[in-house]
Amino acid sequence: MTPEEFRRIGHQLVDWIADYRSRVAEYPVMSTVKPGDIRRKLPGTPPETPERFEAIIQDLDAILLPGISHWNHPGWYGYFPANASLSSVLGDLLSTGLGVLGLNWQSSPALTEVEELVTDWMRQMVGLSGNWQGVIQDTASTSSLVALLCARERVSSHSQAAGGLQAEPVPLIVYTSAQSHSSVEKAALLAGFGRDNVRSIATGHNHALRVDLLKEAIESDQAKGNRPCAVAATIGTTTTTALDPLEPIAELSRAQGMWLHVDAAMAGSAMILPECRWMWQGIEEADSLVLNAHKWLGSAFDTSLYYIRDPEHLIRTMSTNPSYLRTAADAETRSYRDWGIPLGRRFRSLKLWCLIREQGLSGLQARLRRDLENAQWLKTQVEQTPNWECLAPVPLQTVCVRHTPPGLSGEALDRHTLAWVDRINRGGQAYLTPAQLDGSWMVRVSIGSERTTFSDVQQLWSVMQKEAEPENP
Ligand SMILES: *Cc1c(COP(=O)(O)O)cnc(C)c1O
Repeated sequence: MTPEEFRRIGHQLVDWIADYRSRVAEYPVMSTVKPGDIRRKLPGTPPETPERFEAIIQDLDAILLPGISHWNHPGWYGYFPANASLSSVLGDLLSTGLGVLGLNWQSSPALTEVEELVTDWMRQMVGLSGNWQGVIQDTASTSSLVALLCARERVSSHSQAAGGLQAEPVPLIVYTSAQSHSSVEKAALLAGFGRDNVRSIATGHNHALRVDLLKEAIESDQAKGNRPCAVAATIGTTTTTALDPLEPIAELSRAQGMWLHVDAAMAGSAMILPECRWMWQGIEEADSLVLNAHKWLGSAFDTSLYYIRDPEHLIRTMSTNPSYLRTAADAETRSYRDWGIPLGRRFRSLKLWCLIREQGLSGLQARLRRDLENAQWLKTQVEQTPNWECLAPVPLQTVCVRHTPPGLSGEALDRHTLAWVDRINRGGQAYLTPAQLDGSWMVRVSIGSERTTFSDVQQLWSVMQKEAEPENP
């Protein structure tokens, strides 16, 4: 494709995206295709001869679009918001259009320096001290893996340089709450700790990690001769946005020489609001922190921000320094290849740079405040309506609800819950994800799609009542 062809088709495709975004509310939120439907409509072998790009655009409309679930739909209340604000979509296009890779500073100086700048802007925006430095990883899963690798290497005094974990005299133990994200356990397994050495600490009041049980678990490990290594605390758990108490956890971590990693993948965006920062009180005592700018904030996936307090340790853990990657500028510049797992790096910071500049801090704050207010409004409606209940506090934008008609409990209540949420999801106007909490099903209403307004949330509440109580329309 020549630049001139790109100009012509690129304009068409930008128009296509703009039309899609302006019409997104007209589509059913979740795709209704069956497994295999999309693939069956596409040729199984690659084209022998060149095709016109127009044919690709046709397939986009006719075949792909029915197989899309619309995360940027105003009726998106599933999982968590994953806003790809249009300004950041342009940043993404620019990143790919430039087509550069950051292997070291010299391989594209602006790539490194804008990433340094933007991670530092975000540090200031969420109110972290100057003791933190940031890097963009693909996902929170990778960030948590990097954190546990750093924990392993600090507590084992760089065991990887010799016999690794296999040569450690005693097992190293990782602690996390039973409500933490599955990526934390996955990270611990991939980092070689072994499932037997991952402690899942029960949660108590408000679904937060119980510090008394954490303390007991640490003492019990010490009595057995095991070595406490890391705690992964969550600010804003996936099921209920619960907040693990960071201050006492940090105190324990410090006393035991453990690494404290904080998973604020979802809730981290809210810290751009000074009134939310009480939620991670104690954060300055942590060793590492992840927040996903690709969720609520609006930077298109993938923009996971990983912050650390001791970059030297991270670099020592991650660094390889083959001769072909060394340059004269290395001593004065940052080599982000040593801040994570991959060598190659896209110019991902452009997505966040475009978003922050186009919205300004005030624009981003206003949208998040709108969503927090909408969540509080829904919580109040649910609490004030007979036979409806909220199952967890609502510090952020997720409201966990259940409709409990008199006489229904146990499995019958579970069936009722799953049935009404399924009716809503099949209706196409809204999408919600059910989840289990303390062994029973409930429904998470995760508000925060960029397009979701107060009136959408009002409509959702009517639909919820209608579908859960078909007998009282
Ligand atoms: C979304 C989420 C994750 C996983 O995020 P990825 O970037 O998809 O890996 C992990 N932890 C929490 C608390 C989350 O909300």
